[in-house]
Amino acid sequence: MAADPEALSRREALAAYAAGTSGCTKCRLANGRTQVVFGVGDPNADLMFVGEAPGFHEDKQGYPFVGQAGKLLDQLLGGIGLTRDNVYIANVLKCRPPGNRDPQPDEIEACEPHLFRQLELIRPRVVATLGNFATKLLSGKSYGITRVHGRPQEATLGGLRVTLYPLYHPAAALYTPAMLRTLEDDFARIPALLVEEPAAEAKVIPFPTPVAVAAPTPQEQLGLF
Ligand code: URA
Repeated sequence: MAADPEALSRREALAAYAAGTSGCTKCRLANGRTQVVFGVGDPNADLMFVGEAPGFHEDKQGYPFVGQAGKLLDQLLGGIGLTRDNVYIANVLKCRPPGNRDPQPDEIEACEPHLFRQLELIRPRVVATLGNFATKLLSGKSYGITRVHGRPQEATLGGLRVTLYPLYHPAAALYTPAMLRTLEDDFARIPALLVEEPAAEAKVIPFPTPVAVAAPTPQEQLGLF
């Protein structure tokens, strides 16, 4: 079967954009990183995950979610019959914050054009945000993940209608069995979201307006809850 030319050009455009970001110096994180961790997976995926920022292992290997949280993400994907090759995985920040500290608002603002461009090129139907930072940035709202996880929202991101699906960050579920069960339950709803059309009433979040991310409340420490 002949390759879909649109899919091919999307892959090439994403690769070209990734190459262009590899020397990014838009924020202070450029100073301490080993490399830019752009993203991984299928550039034509219907399902895209957005996490927070690379950690130690991601910074060394150059791929998102390759540490313990990544292993859990792989397991959760397996639970719904998917692998990381079937989806696209990226982060709000493309460079590791020192000591894995929380992303700072100015770092998010500097980095968000990269994420928005990824969304524009990949054109996923469902964007699953992992944890508070991705959820607040892409929903444009300050509700914490504890309140909104597992509740799909319709959003228009850069002109693209998507279903935004907030989830707990896998790192938060690693040592908390109750949270893991919730995350598994929320994951179980993803296949149905992938076949639904986003509702006509889409909330418009124009690009490239920077969205301030509110300081975490005490329960939101580590940005995970
Ligand atoms: N946590 C994230 O949010 N992203 C990664 O890539 C790894 C851990």
